[in-house]
Amino acid sequence: MKTRIFTPGPTPLPEKVRLSQAKQIIHHRTKEFSSIFEDVCQSLKYVFQTKNDVLTFAASGTGAMEAVVANLFSPQDEVLVVRGGKFGERWENIAEAFGLKVTGIDIEWGRAPDPLQIREKLHSSKTIRAVLTQLVETSTGVRYDIESIGKVVSETSAVLVVDAISGLGAEPLLTDEWGVDVVVAGSQKGFMLPPGLCFVSLSEKARKLMDDATCPRYYWDFKKAQSALVKGQTAFTPAVSLICALRESLALIKEEGLDAVLERHRVFALAVRRAVSSLGLEIFAHPSSNAVTSILVPAGVEEKNLRKKLQENFGVMIAGGQGKLSGKIVRIAHLGWMDKLDIVGVIFALEMTLAHLGYDVEPATGVKVVQEVLMGKVAM
Ligand SMILES: *Cc1c(COP(=O)(O)O)cnc(C)c1O
Repeated sequence: MKTRIFTPGPTPLPEKVRLSQAKQIIHHRTKEFSSIFEDVCQSLKYVFQTKNDVLTFAASGTGAMEAVVANLFSPQDEVLVVRGGKFGERWENIAEAFGLKVTGIDIEWGRAPDPLQIREKLHSSKTIRAVLTQLVETSTGVRYDIESIGKVVSETSAVLVVDAISGLGAEPLLTDEWGVDVVVAGSQKGFMLPPGLCFVSLSEKARKLMDDATCPRYYWDFKKAQSALVKGQTAFTPAVSLICALRESLALIKEEGLDAVLERHRVFALAVRRAVSSLGLEIFAHPSSNAVTSILVPAGVEEKNLRKKLQENFGVMIAGGQGKLSGKIVRIAHLGWMDKLDIVGVIFALEMTLAHLGYDVEPATGVKVVQEVLMGKVAM
């Protein structure tokens, strides 16, 4: 049986990416590596939609989140955190670990923040230095309206920091145009790579904060990374093989074109949402992201069983709920290297498994809907 992974990280690896990992290592202080790294740094700007440099580090995405806090702020600085799921909470936990003062915007899990509420908070407390939020809150599957939040934040002296770890490459993110000061990303999601790389882009407004920031940092020092980058280098030994793989995945993204990549994610997400709804299941997230669809587990079906049977009978892995959503939702990612057969396949496997578990399913209900969406027969 083939195995297929539909989790919001890690995501499947294209063959070119896999093969690049089989090559002999090259030394990082060579012209050969520098030219690969320079190429990668250029292409990252395209995906990040920014003129600013994108820094690359060897860690999972959380490393870059921590690095942002360590480089931009000082203990006692006030930051505004959008608490709408597990990754919003992660911003809060990191900020508190560095002695920052966190003001929260609490939103119901499964919903997005109201930009006007962020505006109110920013105007009522002039000491807020930053808004820390997500593009896609992967734990709930919700997409946040970063364009509107960007408008609100750019009216103030605060910077907008967006964790786009799962959103980048799945949702539009016009970093410079929307006034997003910091974008954080990771390798194992839309980039179609193994885990192990993380990325940060910084606007000039964000770079200015670095001058006064006193939180401790050494490996994660953005200034060190930046001065190495302009020489085609990294400050420390980079994850050489992953950067070689990144060149392959960026080439795939450029070949398809970022707009086409985003459109593919939009259509696949729509197909999954419509198919799932046609089965009488309820979508948990509003608005639901193009990276991952979270679905309320219907009464009479056990979440653990659903995922176990999908795995056992179809080699299909989907994600469960995190934190307080554990056991209540399942999440199907349609992120990164996905094609039409993957999408129709995961819905087929879901229907078969629901039927196996006693849920009333008319065969091919969801599959038919996927097909209709892919044929353009459904208003998009
Ligand atoms: C996956 C994810 C993270 C965490 O990234 P790691 O690579 O596991 O450290 C953070 N934020 C969001 C929105 C994510 O999807």
